[in-house]
Amino acid sequence: MSAPDIKKPLRAYTVHDGDDGYTVVFGRTNGAARARGANELNCGFEDVEYCWRAPEFDEYAPGPVPSQAQIEAGNWRFECMECTDWVDDETPEPVYLGQFVFCCKECHAYYQRDKRDQADFEDMACELLAARYPGAVLHHVARVKSDERMPIELHFTFPGGQYSVHWISGESTASVHPDDVDAFVSLYRKSKQ
Ligand SMILES: [Zn+2]
Repeated sequence: MSAPDIKKPLRAYTVHDGDDGYTVVFGRTNGAARARGANELNCGFEDVEYCWRAPEFDEYAPGPVPSQAQIEAGNWRFECMECTDWVDDETPEPVYLGQFVFCCKECHAYYQRDKRDQADFEDMACELLAARYPGAVLHHVARVKSDERMPIELHFTFPGGQYSVHWISGESTASVHPDDVDAFVSLYRKSKQ
């Protein structure tokens, strides 16, 4: 008998689903890696086309393998997070941000700016909400018109309420679940459903 699986080191495997899906996973056996790969690729165990050892990635156990290491190993490519162009080991100036890959500095800069804009937007929504409905907790915010900063559509819960409240900024009323109306009105007297 061989040693129990648990004694074996975690090793890297490349798993392919026979379609567009490829991934690197770690397992103590080929079978374990195959199962994990099938799970990651959302296919059945039997649908795995191959599960090959990838010793070049063993050092990254238990994973994930940094995208940069995969690209630099060759044979791997990722979509740029910003423009979805392919990034591979031929890309002149790729930028890595954790597991995210960008095809160039410009795409990276665009992505960062969008992220900052979104964070500013959420901060602004939290301030609006706190001013109008103190104690409320914001769950979701979106622009009403994609090309205009205001108004915004907020979904939030409030102390003592059970359901999400829906409010368009600037409107004098919010939509409150019937079961929560009493609690809402007594908390925020001026507002009515
Ligand atoms: Zn790009």
